[in-house]
Amino acid sequence: MKLDIIHYPDDRLRRKAKFVDVFDSSLEQLTLNMLETMYHADGIGLAAIQIGIELAVMVVDITEDKSQPYTFINAKILHFSAEKNTYKEGCLSVPDTSENVVRPANIEIAYQDIHGKHYTLKADGLLATCIQHELDHLDGKVFIDRISGLKKSLIDARIKKAKG
Ligand SMILES: [Zn+2]
Repeated sequence: MKLDIIHYPDDRLRRKAKFVDVFDSSLEQLTLNMLETMYHADGIGLAAIQIGIELAVMVVDITEDKSQPYTFINAKILHFSAEKNTYKEGCLSVPDTSENVVRPANIEIAYQDIHGKHYTLKADGLLATCIQHELDHLDGKVFIDRISGLKKSLIDARIKKAKG
């Protein structure tokens, strides 16, 4: 089932996700719905906060052919590199906007799967950026919080105007 994605500057994007402690079939269904929603919108990542659910659930697939879906429950960063990477980021919650964002180039995360099993993952490149972008959502942040104040106020003005 495709879900509605919340758009910036909706206050619900500022809420913080709670850790998941029940690993049941409704959690699995949520992740499947999130993947369907992300793929339908041609995104490479989606956090539950973006569909109004305050749980530490996110899905990611950076492949062009949508062949490598990741589902991360209760993800947290264990290590990040001093080395930085810059990517032009976009967001399904901030349509028609892309800006360069600087983030650590390499990360290691701990997370759980839909059954509660624990894993770690080392990521670099676009995957590392995408995971950090989604983790920001779970913390009530959007990527344009990470760009300069002037650029952000220009984006805010444009979005306000578009909304009338
Ligand atoms: Zn986003």
